[in-house]
Amino acid sequence: MEDKTGVLVYGELAGTKLAGTTCELLECGRRLAADLGQRLACVLVGEVSDTAAAEAAARGAATVYVASIPQECAFDGDVHVAAAAAAVATAEPGIVLLGHTPLGREIGPRLAFRLGAAVSTDCIDLRIDPDSGKLIMTKPVYGGNALLDSVAQTAPQLATVRAKAMPTGEPTAENTPNVVHLSFEMPTTRLTITDRVQEEVEGVKLEDAPIVVSGGRGVGGPEPFTTILQDLAAVLHGAVGASRPACDNGWAPEAMHIGLTGKIVAPDIYIAVAISGASQHMSGCAGSKTIIAINKDAEANIFREAAYGVVGRYEDVVPAFTARLRELLAD
Ligand SMILES: Cc1cc2nc3c(=O)[nH]c(=O)nc-3n(C[C@H](O)[C@H](O)[C@H](O)COP(=O)(O)OP(=O)(O)OC[C@H]3O[C@@H](n4cnc5c(N)ncnc54)[C@H](O)[C@@H]3O)c2cc1C
Repeated sequence: MEDKTGVLVYGELAGTKLAGTTCELLECGRRLAADLGQRLACVLVGEVSDTAAAEAAARGAATVYVASIPQECAFDGDVHVAAAAAAVATAEPGIVLLGHTPLGREIGPRLAFRLGAAVSTDCIDLRIDPDSGKLIMTKPVYGGNALLDSVAQTAPQLATVRAKAMPTGEPTAENTPNVVHLSFEMPTTRLTITDRVQEEVEGVKLEDAPIVVSGGRGVGGPEPFTTILQDLAAVLHGAVGASRPACDNGWAPEAMHIGLTGKIVAPDIYIAVAISGASQHMSGCAGSKTIIAINKDAEANIFREAAYGVVGRYEDVVPAFTARLRELLAD
């Protein structure tokens, strides 16, 4: 393990820029590399723009490995695993970080298997043990009811990191990136793309919204999602989310599903409307800075998680809250 040094971030792209999760990984990687007195590198796979490579450098990557692949391979896990393996073979890092995104969830374990290494998935905290110099990886287990610390006995040490679990940090210098183009054997694709559907987002994107108004089974049907909840979200310039039952019932689109099996959000304010606060739901929103609960059951678990709570029927509470906010904001 000792001959492998440095931290390698597997970056993801959002068009010509870095994805938000990658900025978080780079900030985390920069901290870990500094604690180890080692270097940070980043690998970018796809049609990589100069802007993205420069941003990775400005966020601390001493070397940016670029694996150019055609657009039609952008969703091909086999290609990403091959590119990641090529980056690891070249950089020989001691630590590899990936986002716990759909892509990272797919390639993290496959890459670990290929390297004969362990991976800890869905980590919310990473730190260096000052005594051993090893990476301590913290992840929620049992539906978020407990936290597990683990240390890998293999190298490199791999972790996928939950979105919004780490600060984004700021780019520091306008560094000219030290770009290394990777060559690797493109695997024969086993993927056939039959259709492309662009997720339509009106207003603020759920994952990026500073305020999220979420509805649960207790709202009773689809209508509140486009009326009462949407009205409150609009006044606050926020986005609407939902619990799993609300999505399973078809009241809200799957894209709004928050929780263990859905999206993870960490807004400044999370308003849980008629949501009981099951651990699987909280897994997706527990990182919120402030949770406000509106529930007619004073014993609902959500009140144990919330900083502020209103016991009452949401049909009465939410419209009154929205109206009062409108008045205050108009002043
Ligand atoms: C493996 C697994 C994964 C899961 N993943 C997820 C996940 O990702 N996300 C998720 O959300 N769940 C998930 N679940 C389901 C989870 O266990 C809960 O069943 C679910 O979160 C409950 O959703 P809810 O709070 O909307 O509904 P309920 O638990 O039914 O709660 C409804 C709440 O609404 C309140 N209410 C009713 N009427 C009103 C009213 N008029 N005004 C105010 N309050 C009212 C009630 O008091 C109640 O507290 C998962 C479960 C499993 C087993």
